[in-house]
Amino acid sequence: MSNSEFKAQPPKLNYRSIQFLTSAPTLTECPEDFGAEVAFAGRSNAGKSSAINALTENNKLARTSKTPGRTQLINFFRLSDQQRLVDLPGYGFAKVARSMKDEWQRHLATYLEKRECLRGLVLLMDIRQPLKEFDLHMLTWAVEAELQVHILLTKADKLKNGPANNTRFAVEKTLKEQGLNHGVTLQIFSSTKKTGLDKLERKLNEWLEIPEEAAPTDD
Ligand code: GDP
Repeated sequence: MSNSEFKAQPPKLNYRSIQFLTSAPTLTECPEDFGAEVAFAGRSNAGKSSAINALTENNKLARTSKTPGRTQLINFFRLSDQQRLVDLPGYGFAKVARSMKDEWQRHLATYLEKRECLRGLVLLMDIRQPLKEFDLHMLTWAVEAELQVHILLTKADKLKNGPANNTRFAVEKTLKEQGLNHGVTLQIFSSTKKTGLDKLERKLNEWLEIPEEAAPTDD
Protein backbone atom coordinates (compact mmCIF):
# COMPACT_ATOMS: atom_id res chain seq x y z
CA MET A 1 0.00 0.00 0.00
CA SER A 2 1.36 3.41 -0.85
CA ASN A 3 1.61 6.22 1.67
CA SER A 4 -0.89 8.31 -0.25
CA GLU A 5 -3.66 5.91 0.74
CA PHE A 6 -3.12 6.89 4.38
CA LYS A 7 -3.42 10.60 3.62
CA ALA A 8 -5.93 12.37 5.86
CA GLN A 9 -9.24 13.04 4.14
CA PRO A 10 -10.98 16.41 4.39
CA PRO A 11 -13.41 16.29 7.32
CA LYS A 12 -16.67 14.59 6.35
CA LEU A 13 -19.63 16.89 6.64
CA ASN A 14 -22.12 16.18 9.34
CA TYR A 15 -25.00 18.63 9.28
CA ARG A 16 -26.19 17.29 12.64
CA SER A 17 -23.13 18.65 14.43
CA ILE A 18 -23.68 22.25 13.37
CA GLN A 19 -23.28 25.07 15.92
CA PHE A 20 -24.21 28.73 16.00
CA LEU A 21 -21.12 30.84 15.37
CA THR A 22 -22.00 34.52 15.20
CA SER A 23 -24.28 37.19 13.72
CA ALA A 24 -23.27 40.14 11.58
CA PRO A 25 -25.27 43.17 10.46
CA THR A 26 -23.00 44.00 7.52
CA LEU A 27 -20.32 42.42 5.38
CA THR A 28 -17.51 44.10 7.28
CA GLU A 29 -18.64 42.43 10.49
CA CYS A 30 -18.80 38.90 9.01
CA PRO A 31 -16.30 36.26 10.20
CA GLU A 32 -13.03 36.04 8.32
CA ASP A 33 -13.56 35.30 4.62
CA PHE A 34 -11.95 31.86 4.17
CA GLY A 35 -12.94 28.24 3.64
CA ALA A 36 -16.38 27.52 2.17
CA GLU A 37 -19.79 28.91 2.93
CA VAL A 38 -23.33 28.28 1.64
CA ALA A 39 -26.07 30.81 2.30
CA PHE A 40 -29.82 30.22 2.69
CA ALA A 41 -32.30 32.90 1.71
CA GLY A 42 -36.03 33.15 1.33
CA ARG A 43 -38.97 35.42 1.95
CA SER A 44 -40.33 35.23 5.44
CA ASN A 45 -42.53 32.14 5.81
CA ALA A 46 -40.92 30.40 2.81
CA GLY A 47 -39.95 27.53 5.10
CA LYS A 48 -36.28 28.39 5.64
CA SER A 49 -36.17 27.58 9.38
CA SER A 50 -38.02 24.32 8.79
CA ALA A 51 -35.58 23.33 6.04
CA ILE A 52 -32.53 24.14 8.20
CA ASN A 53 -34.12 22.20 11.06
CA ALA A 54 -34.76 19.18 8.81
CA LEU A 55 -31.19 19.28 7.53
CA THR A 56 -29.51 19.66 10.89
CA GLU A 57 -32.09 17.85 13.04
CA ASN A 58 -31.65 20.74 15.39
CA ASN A 59 -34.69 22.82 16.23
CA LYS A 60 -32.73 25.33 18.27
CA LEU A 61 -30.56 26.54 15.40
CA ALA A 62 -33.03 28.25 13.15
CA ARG A 63 -34.84 29.57 16.20
CA THR A 64 -31.60 31.37 16.99
CA SER A 65 -31.99 33.29 13.73
CA LYS A 66 -35.54 34.22 14.71
CA THR A 67 -34.55 35.62 18.10
CA PRO A 68 -35.63 39.26 18.31
CA GLY A 69 -32.69 41.36 17.23
CA ARG A 70 -31.25 38.64 15.00
CA THR A 71 -33.85 38.57 12.25
CA GLN A 72 -32.15 41.36 10.34
CA LEU A 73 -28.69 39.90 10.75
CA ILE A 74 -26.59 37.52 8.72
CA ASN A 75 -26.38 34.46 11.00
CA PHE A 76 -23.41 32.11 10.71
CA PHE A 77 -23.40 28.43 11.68
CA ARG A 78 -20.25 26.39 11.91
CA LEU A 79 -19.92 22.91 10.39
CA SER A 80 -16.15 22.69 10.72
CA ASP A 81 -13.21 25.10 11.01
CA GLN A 82 -13.53 25.81 7.30
CA GLN A 83 -17.17 25.17 6.47
CA ARG A 84 -20.22 27.22 7.36
CA LEU A 85 -23.91 27.60 6.61
CA VAL A 86 -25.32 31.10 6.62
CA ASP A 87 -28.90 32.13 7.30
CA LEU A 88 -29.63 35.37 5.48
CA PRO A 89 -32.39 37.71 6.66
CA GLY A 90 -35.71 37.31 4.93
CA TYR A 91 -37.97 40.30 4.74
CA GLY A 92 -41.33 41.29 3.42
CA PHE A 93 -43.11 40.47 6.66
CA ALA A 94 -42.13 43.20 9.06
CA LYS A 95 -43.89 46.50 9.04
CA VAL A 96 -40.66 48.38 8.67
CA ALA A 97 -40.02 51.51 6.69
CA ARG A 98 -39.09 51.21 3.03
CA SER A 99 -35.71 52.78 3.83
CA MET A 100 -35.00 49.97 6.32
CA LYS A 101 -35.81 47.33 3.69
CA ASP A 102 -33.55 49.11 1.22
CA GLU A 103 -30.78 48.99 3.79
CA TRP A 104 -31.20 45.21 4.31
CA GLN A 105 -31.24 44.68 0.57
CA ARG A 106 -28.02 46.63 0.23
CA HIS A 107 -26.28 44.47 2.84
CA LEU A 108 -27.57 41.30 1.21
CA ALA A 109 -26.41 42.36 -2.23
CA THR A 110 -22.97 43.31 -0.90
CA TYR A 111 -22.65 39.96 0.90
CA LEU A 112 -23.59 38.03 -2.27
CA GLU A 113 -21.27 40.04 -4.48
CA LYS A 114 -18.23 40.39 -2.28
CA ARG A 115 -18.02 37.31 -0.07
CA GLU A 116 -15.15 35.27 -1.57
CA CYS A 117 -15.80 32.03 0.35
CA LEU A 118 -19.47 31.94 -0.70
CA ARG A 119 -19.86 28.83 -2.87
CA GLY A 120 -23.58 28.93 -3.47
CA LEU A 121 -26.98 30.25 -2.49
CA VAL A 122 -29.94 28.07 -1.52
CA LEU A 123 -33.05 30.08 -2.36
CA LEU A 124 -36.28 28.85 -0.80
CA MET A 125 -39.65 29.63 -2.32
CA ASP A 126 -43.05 28.35 -1.30
CA ILE A 127 -44.08 26.10 -4.22
CA ARG A 128 -47.49 27.80 -4.19
CA GLN A 129 -45.96 31.28 -4.55
CA PRO A 130 -42.70 31.09 -6.48
CA LEU A 131 -40.68 33.91 -8.04
CA LYS A 132 -41.86 36.86 -5.99
CA GLU A 133 -40.04 40.21 -6.09
CA PHE A 134 -37.56 39.22 -3.36
CA ASP A 135 -36.70 35.98 -5.20
CA LEU A 136 -36.10 37.79 -8.47
CA HIS A 137 -33.83 40.30 -6.69
CA MET A 138 -31.79 37.51 -5.13
CA LEU A 139 -31.57 35.64 -8.44
CA THR A 140 -30.53 38.75 -10.33
CA TRP A 141 -27.75 39.58 -7.85
CA ALA A 142 -26.57 35.97 -7.78
CA VAL A 143 -26.46 35.65 -11.56
CA GLU A 144 -24.65 39.00 -11.83
CA ALA A 145 -22.14 37.84 -9.20
CA GLU A 146 -21.77 34.50 -11.07
CA LEU A 147 -22.85 32.75 -7.91
CA GLN A 148 -24.50 29.34 -8.19
CA VAL A 149 -28.06 29.06 -6.93
CA HIS A 150 -30.03 26.01 -5.85
CA ILE A 151 -33.76 26.68 -5.56
CA LEU A 152 -35.93 24.71 -3.14
CA LEU A 153 -39.62 24.74 -4.00
CA THR A 154 -40.77 24.24 -0.44
CA LYS A 155 -43.91 22.79 1.17
CA ALA A 156 -44.31 20.46 -1.82
CA ASP A 157 -46.46 18.23 0.39
CA LYS A 158 -49.19 20.85 -0.04
CA LEU A 159 -49.51 19.85 -3.71
CA LYS A 160 -49.98 16.54 -5.51
CA ASN A 161 -47.00 15.29 -7.54
CA GLY A 162 -48.46 16.41 -10.89
CA PRO A 163 -49.06 20.07 -9.98
CA ALA A 164 -45.76 20.16 -8.02
CA ASN A 165 -43.81 19.02 -11.09
CA ASN A 166 -45.75 21.40 -13.31
CA THR A 167 -44.71 24.28 -11.05
CA ARG A 168 -41.09 23.13 -11.24
CA PHE A 169 -41.23 23.16 -15.06
CA ALA A 170 -43.00 26.52 -15.11
CA VAL A 171 -40.36 28.08 -12.84
CA GLU A 172 -37.59 26.61 -15.00
CA LYS A 173 -39.23 28.06 -18.11
CA THR A 174 -39.64 31.53 -16.57
CA LEU A 175 -36.03 31.60 -15.39
CA LYS A 176 -34.85 30.68 -18.87
CA GLU A 177 -37.04 33.35 -20.47
CA GLN A 178 -35.71 35.98 -18.07
CA GLY A 179 -32.08 34.92 -18.55
CA LEU A 180 -31.83 33.95 -14.87
CA ASN A 181 -31.12 30.26 -15.35
CA HIS A 182 -27.33 30.40 -15.60
CA GLY A 183 -25.79 28.37 -12.74
CA VAL A 184 -29.24 27.78 -11.31
CA THR A 185 -30.62 24.35 -10.33
CA LEU A 186 -33.95 23.62 -8.68
CA GLN A 187 -35.76 20.87 -6.85
CA ILE A 188 -38.97 20.08 -5.06
CA PHE A 189 -38.68 20.03 -1.27
CA SER A 190 -40.76 19.33 1.81
CA SER A 191 -39.43 19.61 5.34
CA THR A 192 -42.53 17.90 6.70
CA LYS A 193 -42.15 14.82 4.48
CA LYS A 194 -38.34 15.13 4.11
CA THR A 195 -38.83 15.11 0.33
CA GLY A 196 -35.63 16.08 -1.46
CA LEU A 197 -33.52 16.29 1.69
CA ASP A 198 -30.93 13.86 0.28
CA LYS A 199 -30.69 15.92 -2.91
CA LEU A 200 -30.14 19.11 -0.91
CA GLU A 201 -27.40 17.42 1.14
CA ARG A 202 -25.64 16.28 -2.04
CA LYS A 203 -25.69 19.82 -3.40
CA LEU A 204 -24.32 21.24 -0.14
CA ASN A 205 -21.60 18.57 0.01
CA GLU A 206 -20.57 19.47 -3.54
CA TRP A 207 -20.43 23.20 -2.78
CA LEU A 208 -18.72 22.92 0.60
CA GLU A 209 -16.02 20.55 -0.56
CA ILE A 210 -12.56 21.73 0.45
CA PRO A 211 -9.70 20.70 -1.84
CA GLU A 212 -7.57 18.07 -0.10
CA GLU A 213 -4.41 20.20 -0.11
CA ALA A 214 -6.29 23.01 1.69
CA ALA A 215 -7.74 20.75 4.35
CA PRO A 216 -5.91 20.31 7.64
CA THR A 217 -4.02 17.02 7.98
CA ASP A 218 -3.13 15.07 11.09
CA ASP A 219 0.61 15.38 10.59
P1 GDP B 1 -39.36 30.84 7.54
O1 GDP B 1 -40.01 32.11 7.97
O2 GDP B 1 -38.93 30.90 6.12
O3 GDP B 1 -38.24 30.40 8.44
O4 GDP B 1 -40.49 29.72 7.56
P2 GDP B 1 -40.80 28.58 8.63
O5 GDP B 1 -39.85 27.44 8.48
O6 GDP B 1 -40.97 29.17 9.98
O7 GDP B 1 -42.22 28.05 8.07
C1 GDP B 1 -43.33 28.91 7.90
C2 GDP B 1 -44.60 28.10 8.03
O8 GDP B 1 -44.67 27.11 7.01
C3 GDP B 1 -44.70 27.34 9.36
O9 GDP B 1 -46.03 27.34 9.78
C4 GDP B 1 -44.25 25.93 8.99
O10 GDP B 1 -44.81 24.95 9.83
C5 GDP B 1 -44.75 25.81 7.56
N1 GDP B 1 -43.89 24.88 6.79
C6 GDP B 1 -42.55 24.96 6.62
N2 GDP B 1 -42.11 23.95 5.86
C7 GDP B 1 -43.18 23.19 5.54
C8 GDP B 1 -43.36 22.00 4.77
O11 GDP B 1 -42.44 21.38 4.22
N3 GDP B 1 -44.65 21.55 4.63
C9 GDP B 1 -45.71 22.18 5.20
N4 GDP B 1 -46.92 21.67 5.00
N5 GDP B 1 -45.57 23.30 5.96
C10 GDP B 1 -44.33 23.80 6.12
